[in-house]
Amino acid sequence: MSPSDQRQEHTGSYYAATANEISDYPVLEDALDVDVAIVGAGFTGVASALTLAERGYRVAVLEANRVGWGASGRNGGQLIAGVSGEWKVREKHGDSVADLLWGMRWRGNDIIHERVAKYGIDCDLKNGYVEVASKARQLPDLEAEAEELQRRGHPYEFRLLDRAGAQDITQTDAYVGGLLTCRNGHLHPLNLCLGEARAATGLGVQFYELSPVTAIEHGQRPAVITDHGRVRADAVILAGNAYQRLEMKHLGGYVFPAGSYIIATEPLDEDRRRRTNPLDVAVCEMNEILDYWRLSADGRMLYGGRCNYSGRDPKSIEAMIAPRMHALYPHLADLRVDYQWGGKIGIPVNRVPVMGRIEGNVYHCIGYSGHGVNATHIMGEVLADAIAGTLETFDLWAGMDNVRIPGGQAFGNQMIALGMLWYRLKDLRP
Ligand SMILES: Cc1cc2nc3c(=O)[nH]c(=O)nc-3n(C[C@H](O)[C@H](O)[C@H](O)COP(=O)(O)OP(=O)(O)OC[C@H]3O[C@@H](n4cnc5c(N)ncnc54)[C@H](O)[C@@H]3O)c2cc1C
Repeated sequence: MSPSDQRQEHTGSYYAATANEISDYPVLEDALDVDVAIVGAGFTGVASALTLAERGYRVAVLEANRVGWGASGRNGGQLIAGVSGEWKVREKHGDSVADLLWGMRWRGNDIIHERVAKYGIDCDLKNGYVEVASKARQLPDLEAEAEELQRRGHPYEFRLLDRAGAQDITQTDAYVGGLLTCRNGHLHPLNLCLGEARAATGLGVQFYELSPVTAIEHGQRPAVITDHGRVRADAVILAGNAYQRLEMKHLGGYVFPAGSYIIATEPLDEDRRRRTNPLDVAVCEMNEILDYWRLSADGRMLYGGRCNYSGRDPKSIEAMIAPRMHALYPHLADLRVDYQWGGKIGIPVNRVPVMGRIEGNVYHCIGYSGHGVNATHIMGEVLADAIAGTLETFDLWAGMDNVRIPGGQAFGNQMIALGMLWYRLKDLRP
């Protein structure tokens, strides 16, 4: 995290404008002693903290900015099962881990549903997600997924869609098919993150905001250091994802930040909602560089996509994104755009999250490749299990050979940009 990223209020997103609360946790100005110190209060940090607190651990969470300030409070709100690169984990460890991975796939959805109910978190959680195929060559992947859902007796509604079915749901003829899954869905991510932090606070977790961690002291009981305080603990979790800059000797060169962008229109009237998204589901393309959209609880079109690796946001996010939305939905062209914002996703070179531990007690999980609402909750539980000494699932991911690009972040970003150009060319294939 560069100094200019530190100690900022929320970005001007639709989510910040409609947050249930503005969190105001104190700055750390003390020396604390806890069981687990967590760096970063996005979903990875907050979900881990809540799991640990539910199991009786004493936890402190240090956030450079505000709870949910990073990708967790800015994302598309699409709740989608699975973890990026999971097939590579299966490939490496073999069929014996297939059942374990399948269980993990849906675990984040379950955790979120359970927490929303248990702690009464108001985050507009809705069921329904459709993944849409732009090209016929993408259909076999959807068919294979539907077959696996069928074979494993997935207990929630799902439906493979032909061209007409996809058109009914998306109200455009741009797609040749799709897969509707009703255990997936969408939600207000900032309100989920704030609600989970509030629940964790109720269980004794201490949150500190505007308190960037500047260093880690290693040892049998490591300490995280801020400008005005320190926290000593048995274990530390680094949960900074694309904003992570600590321990670069160990973690530099694995995960690269990419900008992703969203616009929110003014609310659609009933007729336009029906002509855009009659089932009120989240929609996501299957391309490598993809567009995604959904309606917010108050009926706005939240349309996102594009990626940029320069580290600089475009001059106008609206000018970049709105034409893509208008091409699919010409009847939205006259709508005002009320909010536009971006955030950073963390992209590992091989698209597998980078999980591990440094010197035995400083744990980390970073790099969800823009697919993290569900995955962060899975990994929060995996990290909590590992800290308790159950390493089965942790070792699956920590045992992956993550690719490291030597030569620093700038060079790495250029490499990733080249890689994405390759993916873009792949998307253009018929
Ligand atoms: C525009 C956008 C759209 C997306 N859409 C979706 C979607 O629809 N569905 C989906 O599943 N995923 C989506 N994602 C990805 C998803 O949001 C992320 O994978 C997920 O939120 C990552 O959570 P995290 O907690 O690991 O990281 P973050 O939420 O980025 O949190 C990291 C936190 O760590 C803090 N931090 C970093 N360094 C320090 C330090 N030294 N000291 C203290 N604090 C520190 C940062 O301030 C930040 O708050 C999207 C991402 C973006 C940007």
